Amino acid sequence: MKVLVIGSGGREHALCHKLKQSARVDEVFVIPGNDAMVNVATVVSAIKETEQGKIQAFALEHGVDWVVIGPEQPLTEGLADVLTAAGIKVFGPNKRAAQIEGSKSFAKELMAKYGIPTAAYQVVTTKEDALDYLASHPAPIVLKQDGLAAGKGVIVAMTHEEAVGAIEFFYQDGDAEVVFEEFLAGEEFSLMVLVNDDFIVPFDVIAQDHKRAYDGDLGPNTGGMGAYCPVSHIGDDVLEMTNETIAYPVARAMHEEGLNYFGLLYIGAIITEDGPKVIEFNARFGDPECQVLLTKMESDLIEVLEALDNKKAIQLQWSDEAVVGVVLASEGYPGSYDKGHKVYGYDGSLDYYISGLKKEEDWVTDGGRVMLAIGQGRSIEEAVKSSYDKVGQITSDGLFHRKDIAHRAL
Ligand code: AMP
Repeated sequence: MKVLVIGSGGREHALCHKLKQSARVDEVFVIPGNDAMVNVATVVSAIKETEQGKIQAFALEHGVDWVVIGPEQPLTEGLADVLTAAGIKVFGPNKRAAQIEGSKSFAKELMAKYGIPTAAYQVVTTKEDALDYLASHPAPIVLKQDGLAAGKGVIVAMTHEEAVGAIEFFYQDGDAEVVFEEFLAGEEFSLMVLVNDDFIVPFDVIAQDHKRAYDGDLGPNTGGMGAYCPVSHIGDDVLEMTNETIAYPVARAMHEEGLNYFGLLYIGAIITEDGPKVIEFNARFGDPECQVLLTKMESDLIEVLEALDNKKAIQLQWSDEAVVGVVLASEGYPGSYDKGHKVYGYDGSLDYYISGLKKEEDWVTDGGRVMLAIGQGRSIEEAVKSSYDKVGQITSDGLFHRKDIAHRAL
């Protein structure tokens, strides 16, 4: 079998690695990939992930059996539709279904219509309406930009001043759709669910990531600074309740709406006094949750995709170990940062999943989040130690990382 992964980050590096491990897979291609992915795939850097026609032609020419789309942008732009129309199997939802991530207001309206628990919300389009809404709904309050923002379009305003600042920021270029949300307090977790229309296979392992940039969960929101699994302090009862009140109902809701969702659905949820509530849906694997969950998964990913395609019940297999991933990011991320800092100590091994490194004479930084060190162990403590040992092997004057990944589980 030949498979093609779309994307260039650590998530796609892990997807390539996992697919490469399948006994059924002869070749893994990745478009556009990055220089480090040669350890698991044939890197096709000449094509961009937004070049739908070229990707379709490549897949047909190379007899690709499955395309796995990693990032949100090609999904919301309809890459899956273009490939499916050419008879290619795709893991990743079509353009309409991907709105569940691409449009916060679409997701909110779907949840309201089908009674799926989430924070109360209001969509506003003008600065005046936003200021009016704030006057009647004081801080703490959450403001979200509609549309994709790489995890950075959300401002959790704990004070009135922060909320006004957020409104100024979102309306600096004129009218825009902004979603106001009730502030929810509680423990957050992520659940991945495989979806084929109304048929679903929820992962039986959840993961927790660390969205804030700095230790102690301080600083701005990022794409994610680290993740770990399992999350033993969140019990099976929460998992069951999440499946019952969120995962199954949302699949039924999407089926009712004729969205024909096929792919991974990421449920970002928060445990409140009234049970789990949705914070966000993503139409694809979370990064870096993907890297830790695929490390723990023992099932053959191709067999999982085929079972899903045939709506055949499947029991996912998981190792007993704990897995921790710590992100090394460019100084300045998620704000502005320089590229081109030399990175020493990376040997091309699969102890690291790479998202922003380029091979010149040395490895140099080439993005915001740069690499993720994977640690495994019999306990979270062991996995944390293993992961930070690997972080310690990397030296660079341009990188920082959080020192407290998985602290909630320790
Ligand atoms: P999102 O991109 O929607 O996942 O939001 C990013 C982060 O903002 C989440 O992981 C939460 O930490 C926080 N957040 C989003 N919505 C809420 C909410 N309604 N209440 C409290 N925190 C939130």
